[in-house]
Amino acid sequence: MSETNAAWSSRASAHLMSVSAKPPIVMERGAGMELFDVEGRRYLDFIGGWAVDCLGHSPPALSAALAEQSSRLINASPSFWNRTQVEFAERLTAVTGLDKVWFGSSGAEANEGAIKLARKWGSVRKGGAHEIITTVNSFHGRTLATMAASGKEQWQALFPPRVPGFVHVPFDDLGALQAAVTDRTAAILIELVQGEAGAVPASHEYVRGLRALCDAWRILLIIDEVQTGYGRTGSLFAFQQYGVRPDVLTLAKGIGAGFPLSALLALDEVCVFEKGDQGGTYSGQPLAMAVGLAVLREIERLDLSAHAARVGSYLEDGLRRLERKGLLDHVRGAGLLLAFDATRRTGADVVAAALESGLIVNSPRPSAIRLIPPLIVEEGHVDEAIAVLEQVL
Ligand code: PMP
Repeated sequence: MSETNAAWSSRASAHLMSVSAKPPIVMERGAGMELFDVEGRRYLDFIGGWAVDCLGHSPPALSAALAEQSSRLINASPSFWNRTQVEFAERLTAVTGLDKVWFGSSGAEANEGAIKLARKWGSVRKGGAHEIITTVNSFHGRTLATMAASGKEQWQALFPPRVPGFVHVPFDDLGALQAAVTDRTAAILIELVQGEAGAVPASHEYVRGLRALCDAWRILLIIDEVQTGYGRTGSLFAFQQYGVRPDVLTLAKGIGAGFPLSALLALDEVCVFEKGDQGGTYSGQPLAMAVGLAVLREIERLDLSAHAARVGSYLEDGLRRLERKGLLDHVRGAGLLLAFDATRRTGADVVAAALESGLIVNSPRPSAIRLIPPLIVEEGHVDEAIAVLEQVL
């Protein structure tokens, strides 16, 4: 029967490039905190499209924004500004405190733009400085340059020759950072909570030291908030909790709540791109811009940053209860970007067993389990997830 997960999975493997391991389940629809597969089976979603679907599945505000915008203008052209793009740029620069924005479609594209901007800035403002320091275990994307920027050991030998110009230092180690800075350094690119590394937060002391180091050496501080941004860590942006301001900021995931949208933001004095340096057919795409405006409005209307802080701490309490029972350890993270290490089973086993019990979690590293639910998650969903985890672990 063509309605089964098995039948759809075999059609998928026949026609889709196999680029990652996937369970034999094919999703068909979603609502709020729940996803449903082609057989109608329900799953409680604690990864939300990998920290993307901040408003949950099929949020009415997004459907309405898409319907309204699609009846007015779907695509103008990269040759022109469009009205929705101007409105969203005004809102996004206001909430981030940065001056100008360039829009892309993915986190990698925004980070690639940040790397280009830093290299250009180094070449015109800092005597040809071009190196970018990043951290071990960081994740910045899957284009050739962002893979080279990422601190994933196993990536460095892939697709040679590797894009040069990146220096990796251990995360949360100010001494290592100070030792790596030279006249060639144009920028430091960093996540404040390393997401793919398994929700590892930087210390406040480190981030303040990092800002001071950038000021002293006139180096750009590029903060990658692709995963931490938009309420995820309990404030609209993680940098607000650390009390520092980036010179360049990248956003994706939550800002489109599931629609492909990213942003590269910078202070005026850093905006050195000349005409023709940066672009993209879908930069400022009107549907994406309408979604961006609607998502920001919903985040503010529902006060989802505060909600993420509150429900995140409730979830953390639940995990600590399981930690006291010896089922897991190293609970870490911030807001609704949390992770722990499974003590009795591998991460992959836990993910598979949880899925079997109708709960979706993810394992970004061998023993780590990450919980990044939609920001609309409620205490009742947390109780359900903790009960499944207790049984599975
Ligand atoms: N930066 C960070 C911090 C990320 O977590 C990710 C995605 N996991 C990216 C960049 C890349 O984003 P995208 O997959 O949208 O290209």
